Amino acid sequence: MFFSDFRKGLMVTLKYLFKKPVTENYPYEKIKMPERARWLHNFKAEKCIMCKMCVNICPPKCITMDIGKNAEGKRKLNGYDMDIDRCIFCGFCVEVCPTKAIIMTDVHEFADSNRNNLHFNMQQLASVGEGKTEVEEEKKAV
Ligand code: SF4
Ligand code: SF4
Repeated sequence: MFFSDFRKGLMVTLKYLFKKPVTENYPYEKIKMPERARWLHNFKAEKCIMCKMCVNICPPKCITMDIGKNAEGKRKLNGYDMDIDRCIFCGFCVEVCPTKAIIMTDVHEFADSNRNNLHFNMQQLASVGEGKTEVEEEKKAV
């Protein structure tokens, strides 16, 4: 009885011995994110119409907008900040945005032990992803 179980276990070990490992050697080897991965946001100020829908829908209230006026008295976006340390990556802000000014990228390596480094301003959000954008955006560009 014992020998039979031992033999079965050994056969399983031998079966997998020469197969490619299923584990990833992260962080030494970069892992390929799924096509629909939703991580750090990218914000395009030029597309934003300052409707504040993203601000209002965000459950943990981690988006802050600073809207002022330009010399002609027209509305002007001075700042768009995100406290990523509070973000739950629900994607509501992306879904609600009528102009796709905010999207989620596959940039996932932003963990930091200092919470202050997880507050992103408009300029920082603009450079997130550097071309790696949402699936819809990629397909639109093709
Ligand atoms: S993904 Fe969700 S929690 Fe994060 S900023 Fe957008 S609405 Fe807020
Ligand atoms: S929902 Fe989109 S367009 Fe409206 S304020 Fe937010 S980012 Fe700008």
